[in-house]
Amino acid sequence: TIASTARTQSMSAAELEDLDRRHLIHPHQRAAQHERHVMVRGEGCHVWDAHGTRYLDMTGAANWLAQVGHGRPELAEAAARQTSELEYFTSFDVYSNDKSILLAARIADLAPEGLDRVFLTNGGSEGVDTAIKAARLFHSRRGEPDRTWIISRRFGYHGVTYGAGSASGFDHLQFGAGPFLPNFEKVTPPLPYHREMYGGEDPTDFLLRELEETLARIGPDKVAAMIGEPVMGGAGVVPPPDDYWPRVRELLGRHGILLIADEVVTAFGRTGAWFDSARRGMAPDMIVMAKGLTSGYAPLGAVLMRTDIGDGITEDQGFAHGFTYFGHAASCAIALANLDLIEKEGLVDRARQVGEWLRDGLASAAELPHVGEIRVVGAMVGIELVVSRDTREPLFAGAGAATAELRDVHQVITRDYGNTIVLAPPLVLDRDDAARATRAITEVLARLDGDGGL
Ligand code: PMP
Repeated sequence: TIASTARTQSMSAAELEDLDRRHLIHPHQRAAQHERHVMVRGEGCHVWDAHGTRYLDMTGAANWLAQVGHGRPELAEAAARQTSELEYFTSFDVYSNDKSILLAARIADLAPEGLDRVFLTNGGSEGVDTAIKAARLFHSRRGEPDRTWIISRRFGYHGVTYGAGSASGFDHLQFGAGPFLPNFEKVTPPLPYHREMYGGEDPTDFLLRELEETLARIGPDKVAAMIGEPVMGGAGVVPPPDDYWPRVRELLGRHGILLIADEVVTAFGRTGAWFDSARRGMAPDMIVMAKGLTSGYAPLGAVLMRTDIGDGITEDQGFAHGFTYFGHAASCAIALANLDLIEKEGLVDRARQVGEWLRDGLASAAELPHVGEIRVVGAMVGIELVVSRDTREPLFAGAGAATAELRDVHQVITRDYGNTIVLAPPLVLDRDDAARATRAITEVLARLDGDGGL
C-alpha cells in the first residue's frame, strides 16, 4: 500500500489520466469521451487538479455538497480520532455504537416536530430505496398489503438503484438495462417557467387535477407513497408554486398516502434552511437526506421518519433491511463534526446571503437573449438557457458549451443539467469569489449564440 501511495503521489497528470481511462468507469461518461480533470486537493471553495491548476468550485464538488468547504482540518481530525478509537462496529440486532446514536438524536433534534426515528444508509439512492420499502411495509403491517404503488414526478431525480431509479423521472437511466420495477407511476412536475405544459391553466390546479386523476385510476387505496424533492434539483433548481406542496399534502392525507421528501440535495443549509420541506408546507412523513450530512467528507445518508412509521416497521419480524455500513462510526463522527461546523459558522443563514450575492451578480445575465430564467433558492442557482425568450424553447447545447468554457478558460466549475447551468457552491463562499464567478458566467453567456455556440 505504501509503495502504491508513493507511486500515485509521484505520478504525472498525464499518467493519472491514462490510468483513469484504462481502469475507472465513470458515471454518465461515454467511452469515446477522453477528457479528464483529475482533482487532487481542495481548500475552502477551491480545488486543484493534477496539473496544479486552481479552480473555483461553484458546484459543491460538482455534486451539490461541500457545505463547509474543502479541506477542513476539523473534519479530518474527527475522522482520525474516531478511526483510532473505533472505526466500525455493526448496528445489526442488539449492537450499536455511540456515534450513530448521537447522530440519530441530533438529526431528530434538528428535524420538524413528529419525525424522530432514523435509519442510516450510505447515500441518497439507498435512502430512497429504504423509504419506499418502509412505506410499503408500514401499510402492510397495518393490514393494507396492497398499498404498493409509488408516485413520483417526471424529471425528479432520486438515484440509480432499481428502486430509486424507478422513482426517478429520467427514462434513460434504464435504457438497455431491462425494465424498471413495477407499480411506479409518474406525474407532471411543477415547472412554472414552462407554463405551456399546463395548457393555460394555473399550474397547481392542473397538477392537482392530474394527481387526483392518477390516484383514481390506480385506486387511492393501492398507493403507498408519493416522493418528491421540495425544490427539484436535477431538473434545474426549480421551486414549486407556494400552494403546490400544501395542496398535494392535503390530497395525499385524505387517502392515507405517505409523503416522502427527498432532501438529499436540499437539507443541511443548501436552501437556507436545515430542512427545506419544513417551510414549504410539505409536512412529510419521511425525509431522505445525504450529501450535506457530512458535506461529502464520508459517504452517509439517513431516512428520518414519523415515530409511528418507525415503530410500525419494527414490529413483528423487525425491519428486514440494513447495510453493512449502517451507522459507520467514522462517517457518523464526521457528520456530527460537520453539523457542529454548519451551526457554529451560521452556514444555514449564510446560504441565503450567498444566494443574494449570486442573484445580484447575475442581474445583467438575466437580461441576455438566451437566458430564459435565473432561479435562486438559498445557495442554489439554475440558469435556464433558451433558443429564444419568446418561445422558451430549451437551448440544450448552450449549457454544456458554457460549462466547459467556464472551467477551461475561467477556472470556474459549474454544472450543466440539460439546458440549465447549475450552481451549488460551498456555503462558505465569500463575496469576492461570488463576484468572480458571476462575472465569468455573465461574460460567457453574453457570447452564446442561438445554436449554443460560443
Ligand atoms: N436524491 C436526490 C434529490 C439527488 O440529487 C441524488 C443525487 N444527486 C440522489 C437522491 C441519489 O443520491 P446518491 O447519489 O447518494 O445515491
